[in-house]
Order: sequence, then structure tokens, then C-alpha cells
Amino acid sequence: MKKFKNLNLPDKGEKIEVVKNKLKIPNQPIIPFIEGDGIGKDITTVSQKVLDAAVFKAYNGQKKIVWLEIFAGGKAYNLYKEYLPSETIQAIKYFVVAIKGPLTTPIAGGYRSLNVTLRQVLNLYACIRPVKYIPGVPAPVKHPEDMDIVIFRENTEDVYSGLEWPKGSKESKKLISFLNKNFKTKIRSDSGIGIKPISVTATKRLVRKAILYALEYNRPTVTLIHKGNIMKYTEGAFRDWGYEVAKKEFRDKIVTEEEVEKIYGGVKPEEKILINDRIADNIFQQVLIRPKDYSVLAAPNLNGDYLSDATAAQVGGLGLAPGANIGDHVALFEATHGTAPKYAGQNMANPSSLILSGVMMLEYLGWKEAALLVRKSLEETIRQKKVTYDLERMMEGATRLSTSEFCEAIIENM
Ligand code: NAP
Repeated sequence: MKKFKNLNLPDKGEKIEVVKNKLKIPNQPIIPFIEGDGIGKDITTVSQKVLDAAVFKAYNGQKKIVWLEIFAGGKAYNLYKEYLPSETIQAIKYFVVAIKGPLTTPIAGGYRSLNVTLRQVLNLYACIRPVKYIPGVPAPVKHPEDMDIVIFRENTEDVYSGLEWPKGSKESKKLISFLNKNFKTKIRSDSGIGIKPISVTATKRLVRKAILYALEYNRPTVTLIHKGNIMKYTEGAFRDWGYEVAKKEFRDKIVTEEEVEKIYGGVKPEEKILINDRIADNIFQQVLIRPKDYSVLAAPNLNGDYLSDATAAQVGGLGLAPGANIGDHVALFEATHGTAPKYAGQNMANPSSLILSGVMMLEYLGWKEAALLVRKSLEETIRQKKVTYDLERMMEGATRLSTSEFCEAIIENM
């Protein structure tokens, strides 16, 4: 096993291997975790207990996650004098699957978001967010149960590529003068400049992943989200390349909306995945008014960002939304909320986002029985109105539990 200077490698457990392009999961995989800043310490250990209990129960003790702590954020700074040590990145690459709590990002200045950096350096090109209602959670719409979608958001380019320069800077002045002179543009001299690249490479690998997911989980549609009516060669191209990948690589398994109309008289063949597309502003009203018509959404970075939060809010908020950042094999699962500093160390925060990210991780390992057990028990606990402070204040007759009590209640419900 590879050596890491500051990591306490466990005596037991094995690393996950990639063999012939597939993950080979041992019965005791070593899974690195980043505790996270703020409420990270409140939610991490107790969430692990929930996942451990489910794995034990689902496989009669035959399988077990061997946790390995790795460091980022405040804890990393104390140990390495840097916020994102290269050893942390190496460990995630080496052990293939990892999970993290929230990390602090300073606003304006300081260092760049650790979350964004992790996604980029590990080439985790798909940000995956399932959005599904948990019965009993207060939600702002009449039928939150109609929403059951999974968003695949491109994670490496578009506005995330970080190509921007401030108004008046040497770079923006140079770019403006170059563009106005050579391309006859009329950009105002007092503009800040941002560049939004969208490539065929990044688009195709994202859409491919979304279609593969739809096939594996029997999802009926994959919708390409774009603003191609305005930005033809970035957003519009995202749509075109998305259809290209669908038709070239999955021809016998998919059907487009156009084909449904022309060939199948408006009725989608049951066994095929429908590939369609929607303009970004339209999809926001579609998911609100007709959520049942949508299942998997594939979007460039910025559209996907907005959609992930808006749809999560529709089913009761970000506090419960899980997420994963996945590349070709390496996967980093994460709570989608931040560090909620005012609740740090108070054993109050809701651990559901991290626990449900753990559910996604168990599914990724192929441990679907354990994943289902966690999800069902968490749902049952909320149905019993045993919840943390954030939900208790919105639910009539609910019992307020601490973070650790909530996790114990989930384990009891298994
Ligand atoms: P935040 O940490 O998500 O907290 C905002 C509010 O959301 C909290 O005050 C709380 O609301 C509620 N909340 C968040 N997580 C909760 C939980 N687990 N249980 C119950 N309530 C929860 O957002 P922020 O205050 O904007 O950001 C704080 C720091 O986190 C910043 O440094 C930011 O950059 C970072 N951040 C990190 C990530 C990440 O690591 N993925 C994501 C977002 C933000 P009430 O006070 O109303 O109860």
C-alpha cells in the first residue's frame, strides 16, 4: 500500500481497484473522509455510524467500510500549514471513492474555494444531485412528491473555468482592444471580461454519464438543458453534442422527441429512453409545474448550479440535498450545505445531507441493499416527526432531536 506522511492508514481493509474500466469493490474498502469545517465535526462521525449500521445489517457483518481520515480546511491547516494538502488529493485518487463534509470558503480574496479546487484537480467532471421528496418534510409546493429528478451538472468549464479579469486590468484591456480591433466587436472599455468555454469533450462525457445512469436506474428521460437560443456556439453546441452522443453511442436504446412525434405517433416506446432538450428559463417553470415529466437533467455548469438549488428548495431545502462529484472513476460524495458556523460544535445540525450523500456512495459501491436501508430508515424517522431543529421549527407536533439522537433514531428504525 502507498505510504502517506500524515495519514494513519488502517491495518485492515483494502483499496478499491479499477479493473478493465470497472470498480472492483472489496468487502472492506478503505474510504477516505474529510470531516469538514464548522458543523463538519457534528455531522461526520454520527453519519458514519448510520452508514456502518446499515452495511452491517444488510450484509450480516460480511461487508464493512474502513474509514480513513484525510484532511482539508481548518484541520489540514493545523497539521500541514495548508488548507488543501497534496496528500489529500493523492489519497482520494489512490483510494478512488471518498466523502466530505462542508469546507469554509472566504468571500472575495483569501484562497479559492476548496470544493471547486477539489473538483478541478481530481477532474470530477459531473456534479450529480438527486432531488427527491422525503415525505413529511415541509415544502413550499402543493405536490413535492411529484419531483424525482437527478441533475448532472458539468463541473469543469463554463463559468467554473475561472477565466475572468477585472475591469481596467491589463488583461481585460488587452482582450477588449484585441476583440474590438480584430473581430469588430463593440465591448465597452469599462467592462470586466469573463470567458465561458464549453467543449465537445466535456459535454460528451457528461451527457454520456447521464445516459448511462438513466439506463442503469431505468429512468425514462434525459433532458439536455441549455440557453442555445442566445448562445449558439456554447449552450447551443451543448445541446447538439448531447444529441450526437445519444444517437451515436446509444442508438438502439434512445429515441428523440422528434422521432417520437414522426415515427411513433407521439407515444414513446416503453423500453427506450427519451432524449429531449429544454431552454434554461423554460425548464425552471417546467420542473415547478410538470415535475413528473422530467427524470434526468444534463446541464452546463451555471444552469446546473441554479437548477440544483431551485429544485432542492422545491422539495424542502438544501439542508437535505445530497451530492456527488464524479469523474471517470474517482468519486467524491459531499453534503451540499455549508459549514453553518453558528451551529458548529452544538450537536444541533441536520446530518441528512451527508447521510444521503453516503447513500449515493453506497449505491456507487454497488451496495444497493444498504443504501435502501439507510434511505428507508431516514424517511421513517422523519415520518415519525423525530427531527433536528431546522425541521422541527416548521413541523407541527414534531420532536426536536440533537444531531446524534437523530442518527440513533435512524439506526433504531433499521
Ligand atoms: P450554510 O453553511 O449552508 O448555512 C446557511 C444556513 O443554512 C444556516 O445558518 C442554517 O440556517 C442552514 N443550514 C445549513 N446547513 C445546515 C444543517 N446541516 N442543518 C441545519 N441547518 C443548516 O451557508 P453559508 O452560511 O452561506 O456558508 C458558510 C460557509 O460554508 C462559507 O464559508 C461557505 O463558503 C461554505 N460553504 C461550503 C460548501 C461546501 O463545502 N460544499 C457549500 C456552501 C457553503 P438557519 O440558521 O436558518 O437554521
